[in-house]
Order: sequence, then C-alpha cells, then structure tokens
Amino acid sequence: MGAVEKKRSTLAATGAWEYAPAPESRDIVSFEERYGLFIGGEEVSPRSRTWFPTISPATEEPLAEVAQAGPKDVALAVDAAREGFEAWSAWKPSERAKVLFRIARILQERARELAVAESLDGGKPIKESRDVDLPLAAAHFFYYAGWADKLEYAFPGRRPRPLGVAAQIVPWNFPLLMLAWKIAPALACGNTVVLKPAETTPLTALLFADVCRQAQVPPGVVNIVTGDGSTGAHLVRAEGIDKVAFTGSTEVGKAIQRELAGRDIALTLELGGKAANIVFDDCALDQAVEGIVNGIYFNQGHVCCAGSRLLVQESIHDQLVRKLKRRMATLRVGDPLDKNTDIGAINSKAQLDRITELVEAGTEEGAEIYQPPCRLPEKGWWFAPTVFTGVAQSHRIAREEIFGPVLSVLTFRTPDEAVEKANNTMYGLSAGVWTEKGSRILWMADRLRAGVVWGNTFNRFDPASPFGGYKESGFGREGGRHGLEAYLRFA
Ligand code: NDP
Repeated sequence: MGAVEKKRSTLAATGAWEYAPAPESRDIVSFEERYGLFIGGEEVSPRSRTWFPTISPATEEPLAEVAQAGPKDVALAVDAAREGFEAWSAWKPSERAKVLFRIARILQERARELAVAESLDGGKPIKESRDVDLPLAAAHFFYYAGWADKLEYAFPGRRPRPLGVAAQIVPWNFPLLMLAWKIAPALACGNTVVLKPAETTPLTALLFADVCRQAQVPPGVVNIVTGDGSTGAHLVRAEGIDKVAFTGSTEVGKAIQRELAGRDIALTLELGGKAANIVFDDCALDQAVEGIVNGIYFNQGHVCCAGSRLLVQESIHDQLVRKLKRRMATLRVGDPLDKNTDIGAINSKAQLDRITELVEAGTEEGAEIYQPPCRLPEKGWWFAPTVFTGVAQSHRIAREEIFGPVLSVLTFRTPDEAVEKANNTMYGLSAGVWTEKGSRILWMADRLRAGVVWGNTFNRFDPASPFGGYKESGFGREGGRHGLEAYLRFA
C-alpha cells in the first residue's frame, strides 16, 4: 500500500476527513415574520387567531410564525375549493395543462430558494433538497401537465371525471416533494385541493402559495391550511370533501380510515415501512455498500421506504459489515446548508426522542451497536449514523419503523429464507435486491410483498413510476398513470 493510500485508509477508518466549509448562502430566501393561510387565492388571517413558530432543527432558531388553522378556517378553505372546482373542472384540459407547466417552470426557476428553505425548515442536507427534492417536484408537475389533456387516452372507453375537492395531508420528511406528488395529479385531473403541510415543515408549502400566484392558478384551486395534527383531523372531518390523500404514520392512517367509514369519500393512504434490503453473495459488493448507505442514511433515514433492514447472505456478512463500517466513517454529519453534509439534523425533538428510545431498546434486547466517531453540533437535534449487528427478527429494531439513521443487520442462507424474512413484517412498501443475476431479481420481485422492488439500486424515484404499499403500508398508488386513477371517477 502506497503512502497516500495508507493515509486515505487511516482517515477513512477514523472518520477524520477534513473538508473546508462550503455553506450555501441563505440570503436567497427571505421568510415573512408571520404567515396567514392561503385560501381562495389570497393570504388570509386565521379565524382561530392563533400562530405558532416554525423552528430550524439544526439551530433551534425560530424562522417564522405560522397560522394554526381551526375548524372554521378549514371549512372556509373547503368552501373556497368547492367554488374553485366549478370553474376549474370546466376549463379546457389543455388550459389546465398550461397552468401545471407554468408551476413546473417556476419551481425550476426558484429551485435554489426553495431548496434552501426546505433545508432550513426541515434539516435535510442541501445537496439532497437541491439535487433530489426540487428536481423531482418539478418533474412531477411536468409529468402530470402532460397527462392533463390525455385522460381519455390513459383510460380508453372509461370516461374519466374529476372527483371534486381533495383533502391532502403530507408529512415532514419530503415537504415540497410530497406536496407535488399530491397536487400535480389532482389538478391535472380537474380537482381542486386543500393541503395541510406538517406542523414542523410548513414553509415551502407557503412559498408554494406564492408560486401558485405567480403561475396564475385560479382562486380556490390550491388552498393551504397550516397547523398541527388537529388541523389535519378537522380537514378529514370537513363537509364538502370528496377525497382524502394522506402520507404519514400507520397509526394516523388507521384513524383517518375509521373517521371516513360510511362516508362516500375516496381514500389513498401511503404509510410506514420497514423495507428489506437483500444482499446476495454474488453482488458487486462495493456498489451494494453505496446502495445500503443511500438506502438508510439518505434524509437521516426519515424515509418511509428506507432500507432499514439489511438482509445479508451469511457467507459475506463479515466482509460486508467491515466495508459498511469503513464507509460510515466517511459520512459527514452537520450543518444542512453545507454542500458537503451527508446527514443533516433530525427533524424535531419528538422524532429524536423516538429514535433514541428505539435505539436503547435495540441495545437492551442484545443487538450490537456501532456508531462511527463523529462530533455532533451542540445546538439542534442530531443522531449519529448507526448500525446494529446480531439483530433477531423478534427485536423491536427489526419490526418497528425507526424513521432515523439506524440500520438493523440480519442474515439469511437461501433465497427462500430471504423472502420469508423480508415478508415477515406488517409493512410492505419497498425492498431492494442486490445480485449479479437478473433472473434472481425477477424471482425475488415475484415473491416480495412490497409495492416497489429495486434491483441493484435503492431509493430511485421517477414521476412515471407508481409508488405505494401493501398491508399496513397503505393502499392506492402515487405517480405514473396509476396516480391519475386515484383522482378520477369513471362514468
Ligand atoms: P403523523 O402521521 O402524525 O404525521 C403525518 C401528517 O398527518 C402530518 O401533517 C400531521 O400533522 C398529520 N396528522 C397528525 N395527526 C392527524 C390526525 N389525527 N388527522 C389527520 N392528520 C393528522 O406522523 P408523525 O409526524 O407523528 O411521525 C410519527 C411516525 O410516523 C414517525 O416516527 C414515522 O415512523 C412515521 N412517519 C411516516 C411517514 C411516511 O412517509 N410513511 C411520514 C411521517 C412519519 P402534524 O405534523 O402537524 O402533526
């Protein structure tokens, strides 16, 4: 080993890679001191007369005050959406498409500003909001703009019609991207929407209200009500909605399903996951290690389809874990606005407590923990990348969604055993298979009870590709032609 290589491997092993700071400027985004609700194309003061601060999880600094929408505010937003629907659904589809194209173009033009806002409010690394969230959000609007005047071709002979007013509730892990997944297909099909962003990440949705004004979205077509979980509950209960689209925890998803029982309201649920990332002994190991890291440490592991259960073929377990630990030591945790950061801040104190509790349970139940040496900032909420080895199927860390940068490693001997272990979960959102053999990927994909199965890659998204779950990961699909169906009725 040459001197340079030796130094490199020592640095990698100790995690002592030094990078000069490369901060993205935050001057590109300016927040109002206080935001109202976006109803009927205007910013309106909440009837509730209540606001709450939204905080940067990396610094605990308050960024702005946001309205807490109460039942009257929600009713007003639904009324505005109903009124908007009369006009919007009668628009020529090609004219609706133009509005969606304009939104997509403006998202591209304002991408830097929105990416900085997303990282400030949510804590995710700027390289992810800049290179993943924003391009994909724009791509969704472009994609569904293309479908707006071709619905008859998407569903030949079925006379597609819009549903009406869609109530949409999104979580805090991909605030703007989930907004795009919800709003783009709904509008393309001629519906209007009332969207509730998560309590901890409302700012990009409020900036999106400004994008709507810029794109000349007609009044009432997009309405945004901020608030906590109670605002979401009011929205689900509101008279005058025709559809609920929810992304979030399985627990709240079940509560929404109960609430809607007996009402003639369409429902799609995209809930939690505990994906198996399955690595066979014939795979390209270094490539698999990159996929494993991307699968679980992307967005601090705040990803419903995260590859949080690593199933490794027994014969390569030790080699793979060694390589994985070496790679983990090079991950940089810290300032989300630094362009070199790999792992940003945990989204909220509540989420950090939930991760900490489950990690403690992992150690107590007897799994072996490894965290590379890394210095965590003093302010804000942080969690070091973590891997557990020696995990049993019965451990809580193998069964429950941790929603943090925590990986559990299990082993298998045969493909049948891999399938059995992968499917041994209440969830069924995604899975990954790493092997040299294409036929084995297809064999596995046939047997895995997961909505998405990635082959020799992980966490790849495309607006043309449907996404959704089996079992307690929910039902309905977002993305692709399937994503249109969730916003249409057929005459
Ligand atoms: P929630 O399911 O509570 O949040 C998702 C969205 O639903 C948010 O906008 C939330 O509002 C809203 N909401 C909360 N309660 C209600 C209700 N009763 N009726 C209607 N809407 C409601 O997730 P948490 O933020 O509490 O996270 C808890 C766990 O859920 C995480 O640890 C993770 O395991 C999982 N999760 C999974 C996600 C996924 O994409 N599959 C996304 C987020 C979380 P508000 O934020 O204002 O409370």
